[in-house]
Amino acid sequence: MKTNFNVTDNGYYGNFGGAFIPEMLYPNVEELRENYLKITAEPSFQKEFMELLVDYVGRPTPLYFAKRLSAKYNTKIYLKREDLCHTGAHKINNTIGQILVAKKLGKTRIIAETGAGQHGVATATVCALMGLQCIVYMGEVDIKRQAPNVARMKMLGAEVRPALSGSKTLKDATNEAIRDWINNPEDTHYIIGSVVGPHPYPDMVARFQAIISKEIKAQLLEKEGTEFPDYVIACVGGGSNAAGTFYHFLDDENVNLIAVEAAGKGVESGESAATSILGKIGIIHGSKTLLMQTNDGQITEPYSISAGLDYPGVGPLHSHLFETKRAEFIAITDEDAMQSGIELSQMEGIIPAIETAHAFSVLDKKQFKSTDIVVINLSGRGDKDLNTYIDYFKL
Ligand SMILES: *Cc1c(COP(=O)(O)O)cnc(C)c1O
Repeated sequence: MKTNFNVTDNGYYGNFGGAFIPEMLYPNVEELRENYLKITAEPSFQKEFMELLVDYVGRPTPLYFAKRLSAKYNTKIYLKREDLCHTGAHKINNTIGQILVAKKLGKTRIIAETGAGQHGVATATVCALMGLQCIVYMGEVDIKRQAPNVARMKMLGAEVRPALSGSKTLKDATNEAIRDWINNPEDTHYIIGSVVGPHPYPDMVARFQAIISKEIKAQLLEKEGTEFPDYVIACVGGGSNAAGTFYHFLDDENVNLIAVEAAGKGVESGESAATSILGKIGIIHGSKTLLMQTNDGQITEPYSISAGLDYPGVGPLHSHLFETKRAEFIAITDEDAMQSGIELSQMEGIIPAIETAHAFSVLDKKQFKSTDIVVINLSGRGDKDLNTYIDYFKL
């Protein structure tokens, strides 16, 4: 039997997914589940979504042939330039899609969780665009660590509410956002920032990000005379940029998928975010998926130098891709990622986000044929990471 990589009607990818939520949240999630496919299929939705992706986000993003990098690694390397999206990364593809869904559902108030602040900024941006109230929950510790993004959100008109419980980071911010949603079921939509959370979020977010692989196919056809690369490579935090990059290639087994996780200080160091390799099945944020946890099921604090990969779970689609071996998972250390960030900067004149830099380290780990077409998703630009680069390399 052919393996199916699309979500089932009840929200599963193989053994992973579902909607494990408190009863109080059921009406909100159910309203979304009943309506998201209907709404997103409407011609008026598709028209507005595509117009905004073109005129506001700047799509299609280029598929750039990286000449010097290709020469060094003796293979054909193309970069999908999501770093050129408005706000500097792929996250805006999803927030635009979700805010249009929220409007169709008659919602007037938007909430979101954020860790490093990138998803918070992308959410605040689309709320400003649509004139909707925006509340972003963020751990108190993260608010201190990520001051520039907090300022950006405030400048865009959002209210940033500190999460004061637990470790005062992303998971606590998520708990606060869920509590808010339970208390405001009528007027509020919760914009989740990756292919995580209860069904239908992983599928909905993957569909919005699927524009990435749709464009890659058309662009490769023009440049190489084929829609199908030999490899597509993307970094994985929650998994949204990878889901978008893989989406239209999932059923074409000739296209090799490579998912790159953060090994932090090393997979075995106890300080990493290599979720699929180290994880066991568990439930996080409403979804059954691979999760870093202790033997008695306590979630382990993840670590990565890149805030965007520093998540203890991974979306259910990726757990399924890992279990079925449809995708190869490679874990990259802080050190290797930072070196790849410098290499891309100095060989192609592109400073990547540190999340993205992890994907480029695969070029050193894997041997590609000279005729292979390798597409790397350049998920975001490095401006936000300049201080980390400065400290690391003593620039
Ligand atoms: C947030 C972020 C990621 C990680 O999130 P995914 O949902 O796994 O894509 C990767 N790259 C950049 C630039 C980001 O901002």
